[in-house]
Amino acid sequence: MAENKQVLIGENLFDMSEGKPSLIVTHCKTCGTYFFPKSFTCHNPECVGKDVETTNLSRQGKVENYSVMNYPPPPPFVTQEPYEPIVCAAVEFPEGITIIGMMEDITADQVKIGMDVEVTVGTIYTKKTGEDVVAWKFKAV
Ligand SMILES: [Zn+2]
Repeated sequence: MAENKQVLIGENLFDMSEGKPSLIVTHCKTCGTYFFPKSFTCHNPECVGKDVETTNLSRQGKVENYSVMNYPPPPPFVTQEPYEPIVCAAVEFPEGITIIGMMEDITADQVKIGMDVEVTVGTIYTKKTGEDVVAWKFKAV
């Protein structure tokens, strides 16, 4: 079966230059806070710093919490048929930022708080035109 054409869900979300995806984040050099997606300024209300840099986040983090979507999200979200429950996780990275994303290759009874995961890139949904819309996801390591 031919692979579908892939379309990124957004620009500048991950870097594939090392062969595996890393999330692209903004780091404030004044207060040390990280932001995802990439930003042009620090959004910490207690920080007066304006000096930010773009960097790649660690590739691995830990599941801080998770939720299982047993019912399809409402439109405009496009679900696959038949609908399979979607596991979403809040993943904490060593830099101190927590990022939410869908888990890949895991069922609701397999996901655990504290489990190690890595950033991956996978299909969120397939358009009626046959293109796969891809975004960051997390996968157990
Ligand atoms: Zn700051």
